[in-house]
Amino acid sequence: MTVLVIAEHDNAAIKGATLNTVTAALACGGDVHVLVAGHNAAGAAAAAAQIAGVAKVLHADAAGLAHGLAENVAAQVLAIASNYSHILFPATAGGKNVAPRVAAKLDVAQISDITKVVSPDTFERPIYAGNAIATVQSQDATKVITVRTTGFDAAAATGGSAATETATATADAGKSSFVGSEIAKSDRPELTAAKIIVSGGRALGSKEKFDEVMTPLADKLGAAIGASRAAVDAGYAPNDLQVGQTGKIVAPQLYVAAGISGAIQHLAGMKDSKVIVAINKDAEAPIFSVADYGLEADLFAAVPELVKAL
Ligand SMILES: Cc1cc2nc3c(=O)[nH]c(=O)nc-3n(C[C@H](O)[C@H](O)[C@H](O)COP(=O)(O)OP(=O)(O)OC[C@H]3O[C@@H](n4cnc5c(N)ncnc54)[C@H](O)[C@@H]3O)c2cc1C
Repeated sequence: MTVLVIAEHDNAAIKGATLNTVTAALACGGDVHVLVAGHNAAGAAAAAAQIAGVAKVLHADAAGLAHGLAENVAAQVLAIASNYSHILFPATAGGKNVAPRVAAKLDVAQISDITKVVSPDTFERPIYAGNAIATVQSQDATKVITVRTTGFDAAAATGGSAATETATATADAGKSSFVGSEIAKSDRPELTAAKIIVSGGRALGSKEKFDEVMTPLADKLGAAIGASRAAVDAGYAPNDLQVGQTGKIVAPQLYVAAGISGAIQHLAGMKDSKVIVAINKDAEAPIFSVADYGLEADLFAAVPELVKAL
């Protein structure tokens, strides 16, 4: 039994989600191989070889793999899929773009968003926005799986010494092409990797107030900024800051929710945070039911006070 992890990377380095996926792969049993499909991605392949527990890195390098186009990466995975009992992707935008194509072509059922490996064919995954956990058993010959990264600790990024093998790169599928990307530049930690997140909700009332109130708190704590969907929909915060069922799933050491009611769709994205602090002027707000520390207060007074005290 050999397990394949599809690395998430930017050609130069491996992204953190890959490390959590390796931990899930190790729990499946057997050897763990990592596929680095990219272009000029020797840096990423070398980093993958350092991950503790990885037995082999397969490095496929071609111009068509430079930007992680789903059609091309899926073809690359399919070219080697027959060697593997399990194929694991992080349940990130990138992984979720490729995994269904691979599962469909292999004619197997994808097992999505697993949070636990019970045995090599049985997995746990949250359903109903995290309100219930389903135990899923698969009889498919190849298990195609996406891994909820917050469900697994990150494997150590160093300490391994896997052999790196060149995999023959598949031809460009020609079904899509890379046009350009607009990457939001920020000195803040990435939301899904941050140890501390401060999130603002609809209560902030405007983009100006959101920035004026939340940014100093994030600066003081060295935190990433998140937002509820209501805040995003109202234009107070950009889309990529949304936390929740249809946003990002996070589990930082500390999550501060200011002016967020705690709808189940928001809780689905953050309730596994280690310590949750809620600031809300409504004592009945559901966010207090998951909060470790709750402050019933007006956030426009409480947050600046907190910033001053820190
Ligand atoms: C299919 C689906 C998917 C969804 N996915 C997501 C998702 O991914 N993420 C997400 O967040 N939501 C999601 N939602 C929306 C979700 O149901 C809620 O509508 C949303 O989370 C509410 O955002 P909010 O808490 O900022 O706003 P509100 O519910 O309006 O809450 C605002 C809170 O601020 C408090 N408040 C007001 N003024 C102050 C003040 N001055 N000081 C302190 N507190 C104050 C109020 O008491 C209230 O509790 C989804 C909904 C659906 C149907």
